[in-house]
Amino acid sequence: MTLSKDRKPHSLCFHGERMTWLQPDSLDEFLNLKWKHPDARVVVGNTEVGVEVKFKNMVYPVILAPTFIPELSAVTHTEDGIVFGAACTLSHMAVVLRQAVESLPPHKTEVFLAVLEQLRWFAGVQIRNVAAVGGNIMTASPISDLNPVFMAAGCKLTLVDKDGSREVQMDDGFFTGYRRTALRPQQILLSIHIPYSKKTQFVSAYKQSPRREDDISIVTAAMSVTFTPGTDVVENLRLSFGGMAPTTVLAKKTANRLIGRPWGEELLEEACNSMAEEMSLDPSVPGGMVTYRRTLTLSLFYKFYLTVLQKLRLQGLKVAEVTSVCLSATEVHHPETPSSVQIYQAVAKGQNQDDVVGRPIMHLSAMKQATGEAVYCDDVPLYENELYLSLITSSKAHARILSIDTSGAERCPGVVCFLFADDIPGSNTAGSLKFDETVLADGEVTCVGHIIGAVVAKTQLQAQRAAKAVRIEYEERQPVITIQEAIATQSFYQPIRTIQKGDLELGFKHADHILEGEMHIGGQEHFYLETNVTLAVPRGEDGEMELFVSTQAPTHTQSLVAMALGVPANRVVVRVKRMGGGFGGKESRTTLLSTVVAVAANKLKRPVRCMLDRDEDMLITGGRHPFYGKYKVGFLNSGRVVALDVTYYGNAGNSMDLSQAIVERALFHMENSYRVPNIRGRGFLCRTNLPSNTAFRGFGGPQGMMVAESWMTDVAQSLGKSPEEVRRLNLYMKGDSTPFNQVLDQITLDRCWDECMSRSGYQQRRIAIDLYNRQNRWTKRGIAVVPTKFGISFTALFLNQAGALVHIYTDGSVLLTHGGTEMGQGLHTKMVQVASRVLGIPSSKIHISETSTNTVPNTSATAASASSDLNGAALKNACEILLKRLEPFKAKNPNGTWEDWVKAAYFDRVSLSANGFYKTPDIGYDFETNSGRAFSYFSYGVACSEVEIDCLTGSHKNLSTTIVMDVGNSLNPAIDIGQVEGAFMQGLGLFTLEELHYSPQGVLLTRGPGSYKIPAFGDIPTQLTVSLLRDAPNDKAIFASKAVGEPPLFLASSVFYAIKDAISAARAESGITGPFRLDSPASAERIRNACSDRFTKLCPLAEAGTFIPWSVQV
Ligand SMILES: Cc1cc2nc3c(=O)[nH]c(=O)nc-3n(C[C@H](O)[C@H](O)[C@H](O)COP(=O)(O)OP(=O)(O)OC[C@H]3O[C@@H](n4cnc5c(N)ncnc54)[C@H](O)[C@@H]3O)c2cc1C
Repeated sequence: MTLSKDRKPHSLCFHGERMTWLQPDSLDEFLNLKWKHPDARVVVGNTEVGVEVKFKNMVYPVILAPTFIPELSAVTHTEDGIVFGAACTLSHMAVVLRQAVESLPPHKTEVFLAVLEQLRWFAGVQIRNVAAVGGNIMTASPISDLNPVFMAAGCKLTLVDKDGSREVQMDDGFFTGYRRTALRPQQILLSIHIPYSKKTQFVSAYKQSPRREDDISIVTAAMSVTFTPGTDVVENLRLSFGGMAPTTVLAKKTANRLIGRPWGEELLEEACNSMAEEMSLDPSVPGGMVTYRRTLTLSLFYKFYLTVLQKLRLQGLKVAEVTSVCLSATEVHHPETPSSVQIYQAVAKGQNQDDVVGRPIMHLSAMKQATGEAVYCDDVPLYENELYLSLITSSKAHARILSIDTSGAERCPGVVCFLFADDIPGSNTAGSLKFDETVLADGEVTCVGHIIGAVVAKTQLQAQRAAKAVRIEYEERQPVITIQEAIATQSFYQPIRTIQKGDLELGFKHADHILEGEMHIGGQEHFYLETNVTLAVPRGEDGEMELFVSTQAPTHTQSLVAMALGVPANRVVVRVKRMGGGFGGKESRTTLLSTVVAVAANKLKRPVRCMLDRDEDMLITGGRHPFYGKYKVGFLNSGRVVALDVTYYGNAGNSMDLSQAIVERALFHMENSYRVPNIRGRGFLCRTNLPSNTAFRGFGGPQGMMVAESWMTDVAQSLGKSPEEVRRLNLYMKGDSTPFNQVLDQITLDRCWDECMSRSGYQQRRIAIDLYNRQNRWTKRGIAVVPTKFGISFTALFLNQAGALVHIYTDGSVLLTHGGTEMGQGLHTKMVQVASRVLGIPSSKIHISETSTNTVPNTSATAASASSDLNGAALKNACEILLKRLEPFKAKNPNGTWEDWVKAAYFDRVSLSANGFYKTPDIGYDFETNSGRAFSYFSYGVACSEVEIDCLTGSHKNLSTTIVMDVGNSLNPAIDIGQVEGAFMQGLGLFTLEELHYSPQGVLLTRGPGSYKIPAFGDIPTQLTVSLLRDAPNDKAIFASKAVGEPPLFLASSVFYAIKDAISAARAESGITGPFRLDSPASAERIRNACSDRFTKLCPLAEAGTFIPWSVQV
């Protein structure tokens, strides 16, 4: 669409169901409309109002859109600054300010530079291109990034109404309360005047957020100081903070105390003491992080103090010198250009050109996915009579339902029907390995987000509005939310698992040292790009139903739908073309939605669809289990570990789901890659009132290993040795056996370790880091090398099976179907490669259309990293059967083509369709006897990471990571390296960034990308090297390959432990040495709080139990 540039804007008016949109074309008309509709909402970029409407249920009957009014978009250069119309976009403002900085003398542009610095980290380009400066001011958000700068700089605002205009100073009088300003209802903001700075004025702005890119602030600050000319005596000082009160605030008392004082150490001391008092926060304040936020105000002021000292010296004033060790505290972050190296072994010379196994061929649907042509579940075109469903969920963590009132919802337009437990024709029972759930709540809810019912309406919006209008009365019960509460109330699911080997008592007796410790590992949201979605289509006869679902588990989906509908499984077909990510989140929890949608479609005899919004998906479907680990470790002076007693508690949530197997896997990985002769691990499953937690890449393994690396680090720190030396000393060697008595015969750990040490240049890095740390007080670097060993097989024996169905058509083309689903991991690509090699035909003749329960039945979920192994072997089996059938025709016509043989077989009435089957041999473990083979084999890898932390803010930079991963003979190095990199980044999110916040009442507070941060591009290590171990064939899987989906995830813990290493260096500066507890993720808050120093001491934690925190560690 092309919009004419010459076309003059004119007033527009749109009427909708609930609102009127008015777009005036002149200021007069705008002011008249505002006079007439004082409650009308002004909208420019809609980046704030849109959020209010969508997520805060705000309804604005009249909207005024002044975007095209010239006065509101004008930029005017005045004698003492620049005036920006309130509707100027942030991108435009940045362009104008940059031009000014380039053309004006530097002393005039201190304020402009501060605004530009804030804009650098303000949202993303798309938001900045539409969001207006007036929108940011008028939202009056306490964490606005621009308002502190405008306030510190003394900007002026012009407010107008029909009767005239007035100019106001932008100070704390302007913001009258949380998201409130001094504007009268009929007034609008016309413009903002941003002044030039004075010759003796210095301005800086700071933004501290959980993630650097595209994130909202925790604390944001701007500081402006003006000196009496020719001196270092403060004439004027404005310290403005966001995130410290319901409005942007000025630290006036502190500033007043410092006026007239010289800029030196005494002023700093006074400023910190005063600000610690003035910028206090209630311990229950929304947003939490109380100590961190308070410390930040001091730390940021200290940065400003040093920056100004430097500038004063540059002006020739005799102020204290900023010593070189402190210089890095004044550096402004600029992202570096990242680089990456990928190393793999080429296929052997002489391998047939058509044989694509081992070659780095592109994911078969990569192009379609990149261009948007790939078809996902919700892309299935609308059926003519299709309806939309929205879920009604509990707002209480634990309660009895007293009444459900749908009367308000019934009046909503478009509503077709409601669905509650009584509407289920078959069984209301649901679950995974244990059937301990309901499809729809039956009188009781056990978590916030528990599905109580559903509304079906004509459109998505209508269904969602009606669902919100349903009123439910509850009788609340005491919920159990956290692991600690579960321990206190002994709220556990059974069984409690133990793995034990050796003699623990003897082990501790022989130990030179015994150490105890603990660690909490937070959960993780799957954050697949495509949220849960189901389209259910009744077939109109015999109870048949067809479902299009984004699920890793078509068979499980089929079983639960059949149960709920009260029909045999043979009436239900589940089809999966591809998923936009799964990561374990679509292994079992997809059935929560698909079953309800199927019940609705069955009731109405019409197709019904539902795709959850991100906030609903995050609320309802659970995630990775938070874990708490407690350990006691015995070790020798050399660092060799001789005894370990470890207990794990996993927060399972309100149902068992897959939690038992997850805690078991944590136990199977409790020693990570280390030989521990005397060991006991116990695993408790906490029953809590959180949405049931579920499978997530690694399946409990990462949590198990994370605790292992904690005690390993403690051992090294308490002995004063390097953790790498102690890790290497304890590393498993060939012939060792695990705590569950599995002998490690084909182990490549030591090879991975040695290669990683040399490729990463560990020794040189360590020396350089020690030097850097001696030279820098406020930034520290750290390094860690961490190994991983990951067991491959489902721990539930029966799941280790797979089927395949291969058709050859008479034109020679081949259609593969197997039990696995494609979720972006490249399974279908690898399966085509396998079939191509076995059949001896080019991969271009082979196609996979989808996964479906009517082609390959009784499949295991695509999970446990084992899908290439299992389905690859089943496909090989089917292809070999077909090859055998074709043999006589090849023999008869040896010079013929594939097509000739296929045709000949067909005319000879030979079946060109075959089933294949595979089950993993020689596995099966028994907890009772601690015997039997738990895993078919292990995948190994080692990573070395280097980081830099900012001790004052807690931010960190991922400088470099080197990974060496054993994937056997890679089926496809391009896909395998993609899996290694992807798993690493997801682990990096888990261990350093992603935080789910729950209120003490069990309400999830982080329900979208605005508050829950997954890694961004800037979090990728600046240097990332992935090397696939050479010459490491694996005789236990298809074509000597190895599983790769989950094993590399844990390698991201090397970043966590590198951070811990850097924190140790910071603590040493304050005279603190030895082991310390650092919970995961190593967020900016945790890093800052752990870097104990003069500033943290001024902001002590409130005593636990004396207040109700905003969020709790679950
Ligand atoms: C993904 C995302 C990221 C974001 N990141 C950041 C960030 O990093 N930092 C930050 O500070 N904010 C951030 N925001 C918040 C928001 O983008 C900014 O506040 C933005 O400047 C709002 O501008 P807008 O034009 O979109 O406002 P709108 O949504 O159009 O309006 C916002 C408010 O301002 C009022 N208003 C607008 N113009 C006038 C006027 N002339 N007179 C009177 N009232 C007026 C409106 O009535 C409304 O109440 C983010 C938002 C999103 C969605």
